[in-house]
Amino acid sequence: MTTIHIDRLRKMYKEQVAVAETTMTLESGQFVVFLGPSGCGKTTTLNCVAGFEEPTSGRILFDERDVTTLAPHERNVAMVFQSALLYPHLTALRNVEMSLVHAGIDAAEQKRRVAEVVELLHIGAVMHKRPGALSGGERQRVALAKALVRQPDVFLMDEPFSALDAALRNSLRSELVLLQKRLAVTTVFVTHDQVEAMTMGDVVVVMNAGHVEQIGSPQDIYERPASRFVAGFIGSPPMNLVDGRLEARAGRTWFRSESLALALPDALVAGVGAKAGESVTLGVRPQHLDLVDAGPGPGEGQVAVNAYAVERLGKENIVVGRHGEQVWRVIAEPHVQPALDSALTLRVRPEAVHLFGARS
Ligand code: ATP
Repeated sequence: MTTIHIDRLRKMYKEQVAVAETTMTLESGQFVVFLGPSGCGKTTTLNCVAGFEEPTSGRILFDERDVTTLAPHERNVAMVFQSALLYPHLTALRNVEMSLVHAGIDAAEQKRRVAEVVELLHIGAVMHKRPGALSGGERQRVALAKALVRQPDVFLMDEPFSALDAALRNSLRSELVLLQKRLAVTTVFVTHDQVEAMTMGDVVVVMNAGHVEQIGSPQDIYERPASRFVAGFIGSPPMNLVDGRLEARAGRTWFRSESLALALPDALVAGVGAKAGESVTLGVRPQHLDLVDAGPGPGEGQVAVNAYAVERLGKENIVVGRHGEQVWRVIAEPHVQPALDSALTLRVRPEAVHLFGARS
């Protein structure tokens, strides 16, 4: 059981900032996911924890132990990569056993541990095969076994399932989560796939351009995104984000943009700390908009759009509308299929909106 402290970590490649000053604590036994777009610094942060990269400044601690300058093999971490790193000339069994060869563990204990991980990962039937004769899923299971068998203090995984097909990815995700809960080894898992992050992580660290945007449970980051970036990145279809201004009128605070005027809940405005006249971004998820009958013109809290596309998902449709350059997505019943370019009116549910000011 190891708690990982990342303390003011910074990593530069010449002039380029790969990781800006980052501090976080990854609690013992947690499954932590680093999530963000390509190039945001996930792998670099993971590699600093693993010992493959030396930080430009800052420290990495495992519990109280400063491991910043230790080599990977001195940290007792096990790593799993996107493509399984297996010796091609050895059987799956020998590959797993090789992990223990230099560990000074007696033969009986080696045998017991190997048998345990083979059973945990359901790979008994393929252990006599060489990697070339294994399917992608089997290879990745063997790579997991190789990592698990060492009983590391920390498990580090860099997009281990991204080369697999969707069905296999799904089943391996659930298996890995179960396994991790059973072993309670602190785990850091890197992905750019939000579904993977949301379904697997106890904690998700959302990164963007070398910075941490938000750390929280999947529910937290979905329901209470801390920034415009997180709001737009988490959720599919994405949240509608509209730039506008705050306006004080008739004792209320209003959001006003070219397409929408909406009286805002007081608590929401207070939470953002923005004042009348300031620029803000309003966010509303596609399931929190309703298609309503058009009146003589859009009323308060309503938006006039022209239907631009309908994405049919079977259980529901995503109706895409445009108001000038602004795109609005709304989730509608499957029978709702407006003609392209027809005029539609959307109603924003005020209790479900998010607001982002310059400081959030
Ligand atoms: P991906 O999902 O594409 O792997 P990432 O979020 O893991 O991306 P990193 O690989 O950590 O991102 O890279 C962060 C930034 O640092 C990128 O802009 C990348 O180009 C740069 N970078 C990473 N490794 C090196 C290196 N060895 N030399 C120079 N620049 C690097």
